[in-house]
Amino acid sequence: MLPSSHCCSNLPFTKTSHSQMVLCKNHFIEMIEKRVRKSITKYNMLEKEDHIGLGFSGGKDSVVLIHILSSFLKKYPDSKLTAITIDEGIKGYRDKCLNLTRKITKHYQINHIILSFKDLYGVTLDQIINISQQKNFSLSACAMCGILRRRAIDHAGKGIKVSKIATAHNLDDEAQSILLNIVRGDSKKFIRLSRNPIQKHREFIPRIRPFVRISEPEIVLYAHAKLLEYHSFPCPYAYSAMRNDIRGFLSEMERKRSQTLINIVNLHDKILDLLPNTEIMTIPLDKCSKCGEISNKIPCPVCKLFDELGIEKSSLHQ
Ligand code: SF4
Ligand SMILES: [Zn+2]
Ligand SMILES: [Zn+2]
Repeated sequence: MLPSSHCCSNLPFTKTSHSQMVLCKNHFIEMIEKRVRKSITKYNMLEKEDHIGLGFSGGKDSVVLIHILSSFLKKYPDSKLTAITIDEGIKGYRDKCLNLTRKITKHYQINHIILSFKDLYGVTLDQIINISQQKNFSLSACAMCGILRRRAIDHAGKGIKVSKIATAHNLDDEAQSILLNIVRGDSKKFIRLSRNPIQKHREFIPRIRPFVRISEPEIVLYAHAKLLEYHSFPCPYAYSAMRNDIRGFLSEMERKRSQTLINIVNLHDKILDLLPNTEIMTIPLDKCSKCGEISNKIPCPVCKLFDELGIEKSSLHQ
């Protein structure tokens, strides 16, 4: 006899963490896709004529995102999806992933552009980290990589005139970012984590994160259920992020209390709802006097980073 909480008579595949409902593979897939659609609607992430630039590393999250989004966007014939892969220049890691990203985008018949740090900045992340270690620089590899990758995605997105950039940040990432900004006492970034795509400046490309309510284990399970190919090589610099401490703490909390992550995101939503819209929309942005890119800090974080490291950027990024 079937347990009373089983979705149907198909073979059991997994159990939902909250309701402990036993789901078959098909109902699990349906639940995830439905939740992504709900997030897209809840946060007004898409418009019919959007050209979405999807940050595509070839890891599990971005592979699942390309799979779900490419099928979802079929309902919007005037929309367009372009995968953007950033090659940071991490030997033995990113170079291994590039062929897979090409293969996957070809499979989904999606435009694909690859932009390297080397082409954009004239240096690879390996070289930057080498210099930073010699100078005993305080920023972690991931912090530097994050600053440069965000700019690289923007640069690529502007080049092909995307209207929004989609990233595969999941529920775990989202809860970590919220807590990270609390730990740092950074109220501005805490507010800026809004899940609605915000046009902060006419030159700013709004971000969307359709997986904000899908947890990392659910993404792994979805990829497994759909037999999706993705890379899982570890980045050699991954150990260096402060985020790792928060990640460890939150996964332990989630293991003990299954709704921890979603509770954090829901609470953050409620706090943002209480704020006047102007508080979120009016983040003063200006043009960096060095590179001309818009930023809330002058010089912008990219120019500041290169200045502090004593690295000359390549002419492409002037
Ligand atoms: S783990 Fe850190 S250094 Fe490696 S790709 Fe990710 S952000 Fe960059
Ligand atoms: Zn079922
Ligand atoms: Zn700058």
